[in-house]
Amino acid sequence: GKIYPIRKGNFGSEDFHAVSGATFTVNRGETLALVGESGSGKSTIAKMVLQLEKPSSGTIRIGGEDTAKMSSKSLFELRRTLQPVFQDPYGSLDPLYNIGNTIMEPLKIHNVGDQASRRARMYELLDQVSLPRDLATRYPNELSGGQRQRVAVARGLALKPDILVLDEAVSALDVLVQAQVLDLLAELQRELGLTYLFITHDLAVVRLIADRVCVMQQGKIVEQASTDEVFENPQEEYTKNLLAAIP
Ligand code: ATP
Ligand code: MG
Repeated sequence: GKIYPIRKGNFGSEDFHAVSGATFTVNRGETLALVGESGSGKSTIAKMVLQLEKPSSGTIRIGGEDTAKMSSKSLFELRRTLQPVFQDPYGSLDPLYNIGNTIMEPLKIHNVGDQASRRARMYELLDQVSLPRDLATRYPNELSGGQRQRVAVARGLALKPDILVLDEAVSALDVLVQAQVLDLLAELQRELGLTYLFITHDLAVVRLIADRVCVMQQGKIVEQASTDEVFENPQEEYTKNLLAAIP
């Protein structure tokens, strides 16, 4: 499938566009990174792709279909195949849900299987993200940041999606744990053929995971190229500055 362009996100004001002039495609099985400074519109794009926010103009196509023209039934079905993974420590996991229930939540929402098969799937998912099964009865506050992020990934995988929209999914982690979660994501992508829209403000992370990069500035995509090209031969002044800022 393809995720196509979003032109504008208009938060209720005529002259403010959080995103305006962002046209890009994510090809099946690849990782496209969206990078850019805080407030450049990355999360707005994520929300529009996830159908949580509507663009005031422009088109979002997923698997070739214009999502604005889909019935609510097909949108619900689409949500199965398109899952978010947000940055955990701040609000992505519900502190009152134990880990098992957290991972099973999408299965409940989408009415998949009975309780026993959901539990079986939940244990399979814990295995898949290399977390011990006895974490199922624990609560988010009893886990480390890296473990919580793995839980968020497991929950994102529960419905066997094709596409993950990862918004700052590793940003709160220290570099070593970050690298472990990125390895996990890369392995899952190889195994399951997943497509990633990977949002980060961190170019060092981009180099580790992305096939292609879109650089955003003030709601626009100012540069778009393969990861190698962006690192070896950045075109925009802004991209050069971002690169210079990598430690
Ligand atoms: P960060 O790296 O800090 O997460 P971002 O690139 O994800 O930033 P967005 O969250 O997409 O940035 O925000 C883009 C712009 O839209 C910002 O100016 C922000 O203040 C504004 N914005 C985002 N959501 C809303 C909203 N619901 N209502 C009004 N303005 C919003
Ligand atoms: Mg954001």
